[in-house]
Amino acid sequence: MSLAPELIAPDAAGLRAAARALREGRLVAFPTETVYGLGAHALDADAVRRVFAVKGRPATSPLIVHVASIEAARALVTTWPDAAERLAQAHWPGPLTLVLPKRDVVPDAVTAGLGTVGLRVPAHPVALALLREAAIPIAAPSANRFTRLSPTRAEHVRDAFSRDEVAMVIEGGVSEVGIESTVVSLAGPEPVLLRPGVLDLPGLRRAFEGGPGAHAAPGQHEAHYQPRTPLFLAGEHLPAGRGAYVWHTTPREAAHTVRLPADARGYAARLYDTLHALDGGDWAWIALEPVPDEASWEGVRDRLRRATARGRVTD
Ligand code: AMP
Ligand code: MG
Repeated sequence: MSLAPELIAPDAAGLRAAARALREGRLVAFPTETVYGLGAHALDADAVRRVFAVKGRPATSPLIVHVASIEAARALVTTWPDAAERLAQAHWPGPLTLVLPKRDVVPDAVTAGLGTVGLRVPAHPVALALLREAAIPIAAPSANRFTRLSPTRAEHVRDAFSRDEVAMVIEGGVSEVGIESTVVSLAGPEPVLLRPGVLDLPGLRRAFEGGPGAHAAPGQHEAHYQPRTPLFLAGEHLPAGRGAYVWHTTPREAAHTVRLPADARGYAARLYDTLHALDGGDWAWIALEPVPDEASWEGVRDRLRRATARGRVTD
């Protein structure tokens, strides 16, 4: 058995050690308010390439670059339109990624060869403290293997990777937002929503409108966020065998039931954590009560569609 990544306390000594490891090109997982990130020095192309290798992530899927401030974001892009200033002022630090034309200092490895870079100032105090201590931009996708469930706790990361893949994980409790950031492109003539999250941003054109396959955002793979246990949206009948039913308004008869909050934000906050816990149990299947078809649930619906492998529904 290989060792799990070293678990680092989020104190001054821990953050110093993590920041040093990052500056030296090693990979460090850290908490953000969305999910735990697998961090690498964003301006070090070799470190960035290791992120793709360790995750098994296709090189065509760009990484989000995390920075400590608007000023640090502006240093990585060639334009900072009014819309960027407005959205950043309103939502940073927070679960919003802005896509803008990149400067040459940002390696092509980070952006999957695109001329744009996705930037975010995370709100988790440990993420912000790490960014300030390291004093470098940190490229970080979710700290899970490609297509698997995103981690919402340090132990999810330690279960997924070995120490020679990921040097350390900083302890930071449970991620409070619970699903990945909202992604908005400001690189074209009008702002475009590339990936929904928990933020309510009315009036944006949606790149993915028209359903699966229609979206223009790179790296938005259909099969994603998947537990090992077969996961379904519940139809009229539940599958045979001992399974778990996840509900938020109407319970049903099953070997095991889990209740999630009935509001979209509360549901998002518990979703991956609940699926991780159920995946560790011995259930033949997990079925989810369908969620409302309302704008506030768009981020959750997006993740459920991918997690259930192209919307598997029980009959
Ligand atoms: P993840 O790291 O898995 O949360 O995914 C990051 C997502 O952000 C990608 O899958 C893209 O959809 C989006 N993204 C990041 N950088 C860019 C970019 N330069 N252009 C467009 N989308 C981006
Ligand atoms: Mg991910």
